[in-house]
Amino acid sequence: MIDLKGKRGLVVGVANGASIAAGCARAFRAAGAELALTFLNEKARPWVEPVAQEVGAPLFLPCDVREPGQLEAVFDRITAEWGRLDFLLHAIAFAPREDLHTSVVNASAEGFATAMDISCHSFLRMARLARPLMQAGGSLITVSFYGADRVVENYNLMGPVKAALEASVRYAAADLAGEGIRAFSLSTGPVKTRAASGIDRFDALMDKIRARTPAGKLVSIEEIGTLAAFLATEAASPMSGSVVYADNGFHTTA
Ligand code: NAD
Repeated sequence: MIDLKGKRGLVVGVANGASIAAGCARAFRAAGAELALTFLNEKARPWVEPVAQEVGAPLFLPCDVREPGQLEAVFDRITAEWGRLDFLLHAIAFAPREDLHTSVVNASAEGFATAMDISCHSFLRMARLARPLMQAGGSLITVSFYGADRVVENYNLMGPVKAALEASVRYAAADLAGEGIRAFSLSTGPVKTRAASGIDRFDALMDKIRARTPAGKLVSIEEIGTLAAFLATEAASPMSGSVVYADNGFHTTA
């Protein structure tokens, strides 16, 4: 149904096969795209490599957005190998544990800045680096959560960070619209991943959200991936700048 044949995409954020980015990478590949995948560091590499092999990624590169020059090196390789890029998925987030596990008013300035840099500003850096490679237009997709819209218990610091991310997407979409480059926040329901295990009482949050979701079930990384693949197509252009919810309707309930 979704055709990404001949398209090339960058996927940043696979920690292992259960990552939201892994579900997206599989869906992009199933739609025919060729992919570049990144891994955080050598410790993470063995967990990410099977996913890179599964989707036949010809480019598999290290990328810690906090390491000076690493993100730029990823785009340099893409420029050298492909000369262009059609879409990218930014699916990364981090907050220091002590700042995530306290109320927002208690979070340190340093923890706040770190969380914003890794989880939000890195999206804008990727957009800037992708821009010259997207001469024929393209899609920039990031992953958000309902904690950006409303206070969600224990989401704490990541709430304001995701709100800033969604606002950054709106502004990037406006900045780049004239070049045919689209930007989306894909706001997903809760998924049991490595990053999610950093949220206090995440299992209880999943139960609570499941109970409030009209269909009574949570979203899978396969379903999120299919929606991400659609956002990578030109058919999604009229939605540029939007928050697209992949949460089985959870956000629509009171
Ligand atoms: P995950 O642990 O599988 O992925 C998080 C990724 O962030 C990892 O691959 C990790 O390497 C990467 N990362 C952290 N610091 C980094 C850095 N300095 N440089 C580069 N990469 C770095 O967890 P996930 O849940 O799949 O998270 C992906 C995205 O989805 C995150 O933005 C997360 O906030 C968002 N999200 C998750 C949920 C959920 O319930 N799991 C819900 C909504 C949104």
